[in-house]
Amino acid sequence: MHELSIAESLIKIIREEMAKHGLTKLLNVKIVYGQISAIVPEALETAFEVLTVNTPFEGAKVECEVKPMMVRCRQCGEEFSPSHEERMIMPCPKCATEFGHEIIAGRELYIENIEAE
Ligand SMILES: [Zn+2]
Repeated sequence: MHELSIAESLIKIIREEMAKHGLTKLLNVKIVYGQISAIVPEALETAFEVLTVNTPFEGAKVECEVKPMMVRCRQCGEEFSPSHEERMIMPCPKCATEFGHEIIAGRELYIENIEAE
């Protein structure tokens, strides 16, 4: 379960960030993950809960938001978000080229917001 190691590194980042600002109690954290980053949000939330038991982060709310995948057409440069059903072939809405597009979004994983006191 790779969410566990992801949660671990997120907690480390949050802890450093909070220490910088002299904060101790984490209330809420918002995580943005890409559609093709292979993150299962429920698993990430559970991992976060498990890892924060008996720590100042216990009880913090984890919000996950998915970012859709975006590709840039290799033929005409059009940027578009392929629909779920078309993930294996991704016809460009402009020129209908189906393969070889460059993935420009959808793999990200970052903390968007931390609420703490
Ligand atoms: Zn195109």
